[in-house]
Amino acid sequence: MKFSGKTRVLGIIGSPVGHSLSPAMQNAAIDELGIEYVYVPFPVEPDFLGQAVEGLRRLGVWGFNVTIPHKSTIIPFLDKISPEAELCGAVNTVCREGDFLVGYNTDGIGFLASAREDLQYDPRGSSVLLLGAGGAARGAIAALASAGVARIVIANRTGARGLALREMFRAVFPAVEFAVSSLAAAELAGHLPNVDLLVNTTSVGMNGTSFEYFPLSELPDTAKVYDMVYVPAETPLLAEAKGRGLACANGLGMLAGQGASAFKLWTGLDAPCAAMKQKLLEELER
Ligand code: NAP
Repeated sequence: MKFSGKTRVLGIIGSPVGHSLSPAMQNAAIDELGIEYVYVPFPVEPDFLGQAVEGLRRLGVWGFNVTIPHKSTIIPFLDKISPEAELCGAVNTVCREGDFLVGYNTDGIGFLASAREDLQYDPRGSSVLLLGAGGAARGAIAALASAGVARIVIANRTGARGLALREMFRAVFPAVEFAVSSLAAAELAGHLPNVDLLVNTTSVGMNGTSFEYFPLSELPDTAKVYDMVYVPAETPLLAEAKGRGLACANGLGMLAGQGASAFKLWTGLDAPCAAMKQKLLEELER
């Protein structure tokens, strides 16, 4: 890497940020295109978020990602947020636009790009069963509904969170049919036969955890399964779906996709997705 007085600084704020794969992935993209940017981690404690954002603004930092726990709490410190970020109630990418800091959410776009590429999934008119109702679920629902899915069932452990998402998205996307479910096997089994895409947006699957009993046998043979978890690369849900011969993908492509979308917002250039994905695989293998 070569730096000069013109080098543009990008970064990520979070607490912690030491585990983030974004610096390796974004610097690989920068190297691949040979552009004069650098991407660095900025650990920011929650109590100092406002001061940190003001500091980044005054230092002329060109753009940055936002990760846990600041994705929602950063919003009051920004000048403007995109419609997607508004819908998700969360920002994962900030861009300098003139004197303004503008917040975007590229998680949903990254998820859909990955599902299209890794599963050859076409959202138009399709039926989706989505497990979870947290931040990742919101991004996915916004992207799926914008892309023309016909029906989304939101299945969540805490029923009230699923219901709240259904009400919110129903009001914004009246053409999409929204329903809710619990994670109880008997109830899920009733929804699965009509599903084109099953998406896990919960943290179940991380560190080898699994759903108690998931009635996967009820899915049609044409269904595709996407798990946003990428460590381990094959969650118990994906292992079972693969065993059934279903098309499967983990969340690595989503991680690369949200990063590629942020890269484009900051630089105006198409991101070198293959190099970014390759770097992520190398980092995960380490
Ligand atoms: P979040 O807002 O905290 O939501 C967590 C969700 O998981 C909630 O729906 C929660 O249900 C559910 N959940 C947690 N433990 C559960 C359990 N034992 N049984 C059933 N449901 C459980 O988190 P998030 O930001 O949405 O992230 C969720 C997952 O997506 C994480 O694994 C994260 O790593 C992954 N993710 C991946 C990417 C990517 O680029 N691949 C990007 C973003 C997120 P309740 O409402 O009942 O608590």
